[in-house]
Amino acid sequence: MPLPAQLHITLPVWVLELDVAGRDFASDAAKVAFAIELSKRNIEAGSGGPFGAAVFNRHDLLVAVGVNRVVRQSCSLAHAETMAYMLAQQRLQRFRLNEDGPMTLATSAQPCCQCYGATMWAGIDRLLIGARSEDVETLTEFDEGPLPADWIGELHKRGIEVVRDLEREAARAVLKSYGELGGPNY
Ligand SMILES: [Zn+2]
Repeated sequence: MPLPAQLHITLPVWVLELDVAGRDFASDAAKVAFAIELSKRNIEAGSGGPFGAAVFNRHDLLVAVGVNRVVRQSCSLAHAETMAYMLAQQRLQRFRLNEDGPMTLATSAQPCCQCYGATMWAGIDRLLIGARSEDVETLTEFDEGPLPADWIGELHKRGIEVVRDLEREAARAVLKSYGELGGPNY
């Protein structure tokens, strides 16, 4: 049997039906609220774990979204943030997103150790976060993995501003409902 030589990883079909035309994503809170909506929709649809993310350009326009697809796509890398980065990079056809202006990632929860690393190389300027990792780890069974003690400072050094606790309660509510479902560990 030949070795695998390509990847095909998808978001759920409901993403194609999202109606975002004319939606106002100008504020940080609106961006994270949208990422949280994605996380909620993902668990309601049974299409993955309780995590959502979205990439926005300098005009606050949506470039790409991501939701957790680990179980559905048999891929430990298919977290919301990495899906959003990869799809934005494919859409813009460049591996660093911010070549022609600042880019932002909004995520429903603080990036895990994998997505933290991915964030360093993705070419974003701002990272907007809903729930904290302690929220994830107390409300669900996910392990977020180790981060540098000064993880925010390490991002700052690389030109990435971090804003936390945006719509945190709404993000916590989705994690809590997922934790209470006791479903498979996506
Ligand atoms: Zn992750």
